[in-house]
Amino acid sequence: MKQYRMYVGGEWVEAKSKALRQIIDPGNGELLGTVPESNREDVILAIEAAREAFDKGPWKTTTALDRGKFLFKISDLIRREAKRLAELEVKNCGKPLAEAEFDVNDAANCFEFYGGLATKIHGETMSVPANSMSFVVREPLGVCGQIIPWNFPLLMSAWKLAPALAAGCTVILKPSELTPLTALELAGLIHEAGLPRGVVNIVTGPGVGAGEELAQNKLCDKVAFTGGTLTGRKILEGASSNLKKVTLELGGKNPNIVFADCDLEAAIDGALFGAFANQGEVCSAGSRLLVDKSIHKSMVAGMLAKIDRIKLGHGLTPGVKMGPLISKAQLEKVQNYIQIGIEEGATPLCGGKRPEGSIFNKGNFLLPTIFDNVTPKMRIAREEIFGPVLSIITFETEEEAIHIANDTDYGLAAGVWSKNIFRAMRVVRSLRAGITWINTYHPTFNELPWGGYKQSGWGRELGIHGIDAYLETKQININLDEAPIGWY
Ligand code: NDP
Repeated sequence: MKQYRMYVGGEWVEAKSKALRQIIDPGNGELLGTVPESNREDVILAIEAAREAFDKGPWKTTTALDRGKFLFKISDLIRREAKRLAELEVKNCGKPLAEAEFDVNDAANCFEFYGGLATKIHGETMSVPANSMSFVVREPLGVCGQIIPWNFPLLMSAWKLAPALAAGCTVILKPSELTPLTALELAGLIHEAGLPRGVVNIVTGPGVGAGEELAQNKLCDKVAFTGGTLTGRKILEGASSNLKKVTLELGGKNPNIVFADCDLEAAIDGALFGAFANQGEVCSAGSRLLVDKSIHKSMVAGMLAKIDRIKLGHGLTPGVKMGPLISKAQLEKVQNYIQIGIEEGATPLCGGKRPEGSIFNKGNFLLPTIFDNVTPKMRIAREEIFGPVLSIITFETEEEAIHIANDTDYGLAAGVWSKNIFRAMRVVRSLRAGITWINTYHPTFNELPWGGYKQSGWGRELGIHGIDAYLETKQININLDEAPIGWY
């Protein structure tokens, strides 16, 4: 068992109160280690360190080329430690090893992508009416608070840190109190990469108090948040203190639409993977399966024939395809939704309960659950459950499918299954969602912008668009007339 410390101002520190939090493996209840339980006082110190590093430190004059080199170095170090990081991610947040390995590799890719992008931050030169030369430069936005959730701790750390550092910002990142370990390990790699002190600070502590301070503190120029929509609203309220810039990546109730002209076998796989990857604890999970009525029977039969292949267990057990939910509270939340679905009149087709067997007793396991005969107005079709629960809704026409898909407060992701490219493109262009897939579900690329329409968030992460969220835009006008303006 390891006693971790936080990373503030280039030093490993305890919380001023000396309080500790125990970090638990959700798959077996084992104690993995302790981390400092910081409060506002500790977070303020981290913010001050980031402020000083931005205003006075060597980071200010570090060239884009050198910032990029730091990011490449971090990427290399993540790859060097990939096995250890993946196993720790499994233990801390419950996902199967293969998924954790993917996350670690993608986190390294993310630092590489932004390492390359650091030197491609361009300004513009404008033609203006006066005899002037006018141009636009991009500058780092400043000190950025970053708050990430428990479902992809290392990957979300990369998504937040890499673009901010490429842009020249300094950061204070707070992982979820449930899953801080890989972010702290990453802090060790960032230290090894030699970033100037205070450029990256990783604080551990609860959302209430530590997280709130990041949103509210006036020394922060920005807060970037990924998590639940309700918390997103609180972040906005806090950020109003100094009208800091805000980006929000919130939840989804994402439609995965299967047309009769699809490749059925591929759609069956895509429906299951869309709903149950990472135990369904994914903002972009395809949690609403919209199925053409004419193929509903064969679609359901195909899914039920494969559902037992989703082997449950601790993520480090070979062959496991689904791990435990993150916490007892999350398990209870999802079980409550299953009860709601039954009371609303939906038909449970499988799952709905905890798996039997002593190996499951100490973990937060829940069988993959599919509800049929769901109607669009039911709560299980409208609210983000964030667990392995899939709701099947049928439709008869393309227009109806689009209407049901868009009939939600959210607008994060959507999938379309059809071999007819005209239909697939027509439908995708009609969907009010920021991330869409045709004949696949879930692939995510660092090169592409990630984020949602409607109440799924503000702004975009990743890709070239993602760096905009960490840059300010300044216009510079140079007068080319030598004579005074002659106004007085
Ligand atoms: P939260 O939105 O509460 O947590 C996300 C992050 O925000 C965590 O780091 C959390 O810290 C922090 N946080 C919590 N409250 C505040 C606050 N008032 N001010 C600043 N930061 C705060 O998610 P939950 O863990 O409570 O999950 C609730 C629901 O949110 C889930 O069931 C799911 O529906 C949704 N969710 C969506 C995610 C997504 O990727 N879109 C990710 C996670 C959850 P800490 O954990 O330390 O309290």
